[in-house]
Formats: sequence, structure tokens, C-alpha cells
Amino acid sequence: MIAATVGLVACGEGFTAYERDVIHASGDGIMRVLSIADPTDSLLLRKESLPVSEQMLRSEEYALLRERMLQTVQNPEAEGVGIAAPQVGVRRNIIAVQRFDKEGEPFEFFINPEIIELLGEKADGGEGCLSVPELYGNVSRWQHIVLRYRDEQWVDHTEHIEGFTAVIFQHEVDHLSGRLFIDYLSAEGLEEPIAE
Ligand SMILES: [Zn+2]
Repeated sequence: MIAATVGLVACGEGFTAYERDVIHASGDGIMRVLSIADPTDSLLLRKESLPVSEQMLRSEEYALLRERMLQTVQNPEAEGVGIAAPQVGVRRNIIAVQRFDKEGEPFEFFINPEIIELLGEKADGGEGCLSVPELYGNVSRWQHIVLRYRDEQWVDHTEHIEGFTAVIFQHEVDHLSGRLFIDYLSAEGLEEPIAE
């Protein structure tokens, strides 16, 4: 479990030189999203992400990564409702989720998130992914989760989340363990994109 590994990060550990390079790559703005269509990206997307330390969260790199992830998920040419740091090449436990369960539907960031309970019923819903170009399908997801995470002030929270927002959390937290929504689809479950 992700929470079990949090303690392994020394408090003084910051982002690695490689991660800093990725975060700063080509200035600011929208980041390149890793795609399963690329063999190297595909391997990275399948790896497990690592815990975030308090020092990382309080660094300039985190602030820039946060801003760039937000711009990337809100890219009008490829808009999403959630994004995980490994999708932009930073293999750390950071996700952004659009809170459809909150007034104004803001994007919020969650550090070292972990789903500690799955409750209620499962329901099918259509899904796609910024890292899986032109593929959509129905995935059965739990409609009620209990999420444990740290907020951007490093405060520990346990929160109940329901409905579509809970589905987004399951999709994004899956990215942190290298799991993609297509793993849940049978060959018949795959849907071709609607031609534009
Ligand atoms: Zn995704």
C-alpha cells in the first residue's frame, strides 16, 4: 500500500535532478503527456510512483509542477477531469481531480493519496484517459470511496467521496500504481472513438 511506504522518505529528500529537469522542461505551460502509443512512455506509465516528502511539497518545483499539471489537464485541445503526476513524467504520488461534488467544480491536488475503503455499489461509466489516445470504454467503478491523503499544507485527511468524483479518484489513484482504465476492459468493451 502507498501509505506504508510514506515513512521511507527521509524528511530532507527533495525532487531528484531528473525530476527537476522534467518539471522545468521547455519553460512553463502545458507539459508533454506520456502516451501508451509510445513504447518508452508506456513503460514509465506502468511503473509504480513514489511517495512525496514534505520538503518536495514545499519546494519551488512543486509549485511549478502544480501549475503546469493544471494547465495540462485544462488544455482546451485535450481537456481532462483529472491528471496524475506520472502522466507528465514525474513518478510521484500527486494527483489533481476536478471536484464535481463541490461548488464551482474546482481542481484540487492530493498528495500521497490512498483509497482505504470502497463502499456502496459499483456502476458502469464511460472513461477515457489523456495517456490513452482515442480509446474509450465502460469501466465498473465503486460509487463511494474513503480517501486518505495529505493536502498541500501537508495536513493528513480522511474523506468520504461519492459519485462521479469518486470514479475520477479511482482512475487517478490507479495511475500511481501503473494501472490504466483499459486494464478493466474486455476486448468487446473497447469502443472506437466517434469520428469528428
Ligand atoms: Zn488517466
